[in-house]
Amino acid sequence: MFYRDTWAEIDLDRIYHNVSMIKAHAGFESLFAVVKANAYGHGDVEVARTALEAGATHLAVALLDEALKLRRHFSDSAILVMGPIRVADIAVAATHRIAIIAHDLDWIEAAAGYSGPRLDIHIKLDTGMNRVGIKCAEQLKRGTRLLHNNPAFNLCGLFTHFATADGDTALYQAQLARFDRLTADIDLSALTLVHQANSAAMLHQSKQPQSNAGRLGIAMYGLPPSADLKLPFELQQAFSLHSCITQIKQLHKGEMVGYGATYEADTDQLIGILPLGYADGWLRYHQGREVEIRGQRYPLVGRICMDQCVVRIDPSIEVGTQVTLLGDLISVTDAANDLNTINYELVCSISDRVPRRYKRHGRFISERNDRFSDA
Ligand SMILES: *Cc1c(COP(=O)(O)O)cnc(C)c1O
Repeated sequence: MFYRDTWAEIDLDRIYHNVSMIKAHAGFESLFAVVKANAYGHGDVEVARTALEAGATHLAVALLDEALKLRRHFSDSAILVMGPIRVADIAVAATHRIAIIAHDLDWIEAAAGYSGPRLDIHIKLDTGMNRVGIKCAEQLKRGTRLLHNNPAFNLCGLFTHFATADGDTALYQAQLARFDRLTADIDLSALTLVHQANSAAMLHQSKQPQSNAGRLGIAMYGLPPSADLKLPFELQQAFSLHSCITQIKQLHKGEMVGYGATYEADTDQLIGILPLGYADGWLRYHQGREVEIRGQRYPLVGRICMDQCVVRIDPSIEVGTQVTLLGDLISVTDAANDLNTINYELVCSISDRVPRRYKRHGRFISERNDRFSDA
């Protein structure tokens, strides 16, 4: 239930399509569906369920908190936390059968005395992104030994993350080579999961010879990881954002709109008020962009407020007319390009004040409004 006509629609059929296409294209036995950050704003439980139906074999998130929420809904699925957790929280992860990462030798030394329930652990290698991960072969050797020596740890995975799988192939190749050098003394076949590829690598690079799994994020949502590269097949954007006009008024030439009076009508004209604003993640940067009404483009005028924004319209439009702010005509990626940002950031920004409606098999099956429930 929701009482304001602003909502996001998530077409799970499109997520299903994207996951199955990418899984076939990438050719890995195992595929992590990356559903961190509430599935990039789409809704973690619904997306995870659809991705698993479509062939994903594992779920991956950034935080232990996110993993614990998923565990309440997926009692048997394999869940990996891709970010570092506190040593003090290993027992919590283990109790809920959540796999974690070992990202640093100091962390491993601090964790070496862990003696709670057994849990799966993946070593994270830094092969050139210089973010999270073990960078040096000596530390890897020592860390691996420490983990092996503690029977509470099931060292089952090894992975790295690419900085430029969507562009600079020289750095991509250097990361692959570094992975091989770092793991030269490690028997990779003894590990259940070796994973390197993100969306960009799965779409734009050939299969990494050492890997048997990939971690699929942005492309699962139908959003291209790179603005510049041609996709090997069409992705279907699952996310759309809608609202309805709540009021229409006539502006006379010379009248202003909104805070700061940044828009002045250059002729007599009609404007419509939309009930969404920056508190919904419809950020002030959207000022001056266009929205879709019945297949046509109309400009937003004046500043975006916390709860409202204003669109310039024509007489064909009535109170109650639906407005699509992000959809098939004005895509998430186009809007992100307009704003000098990336599609990832745009979908993550749409706040939980916006209810999500879910479509599957061509019809609406459920909705989520976090104002009323935390389920
Ligand atoms: C977010 C994330 C991914 C997914 O990346 P996409 O570009 O969205 O496919 C994969 N691996 C790690 C470690 C991540 O943090």
